[in-house]
Amino acid sequence: MSVNAEDLSRICAGCGLCCNGTLFGLVDVAEDEIERVTKRGLVLHPSLSAAVLPCPKHVEATGCSIYADRPAACHRYSCGVLEAAENGNKSVEQQVDKVRRTIALIDRLKSQGVDVRVVAKDGVAKVREDPASQLDPSKAELLLDLSELKIILKRDYGYGVEK
Ligand code: SF4
Ligand code: SF4
Repeated sequence: MSVNAEDLSRICAGCGLCCNGTLFGLVDVAEDEIERVTKRGLVLHPSLSAAVLPCPKHVEATGCSIYADRPAACHRYSCGVLEAAENGNKSVEQQVDKVRRTIALIDRLKSQGVDVRVVAKDGVAKVREDPASQLDPSKAELLLDLSELKIILKRDYGYGVEK
């Protein structure tokens, strides 16, 4: 059974992890896309064919604000959560719920000062700071939350791979 695009977009609308700097620090921009995407507000990396994330065009709750003009790399990208709904292995409702639980876990860590985002640094394509180093080792519950989150992000969303 095919799933329509509008239903799939409900999964991404509550997420944004591939745009807001959580999963990736950069998104590829092809030579012939540079003018279009920079006019729409994307910020190019000074030495790579890529724009830096978090993307200024991502709007929490509604998603990409330049959808028709987004780079081809964004158009191509589909994480495991979305793919499982696309190919019918999971229902849209299950995946909307998965995203909701993932965001709740991230927010819980964020409220304790833990930033799990991948970050782009000058001259380096992609660097992930180890979030565990930001945590007081006595906070066992948070460390467990963090390990659970890392497993979920790697297994279901593509944490740490190229967009
Ligand atoms: S990480 Fe997956 S579910 Fe989240 S916005 Fe990107 S494609 Fe959609
Ligand atoms: S252009 Fe749109 S899809 Fe691409 S990273 Fe920015 S908000 Fe996300």
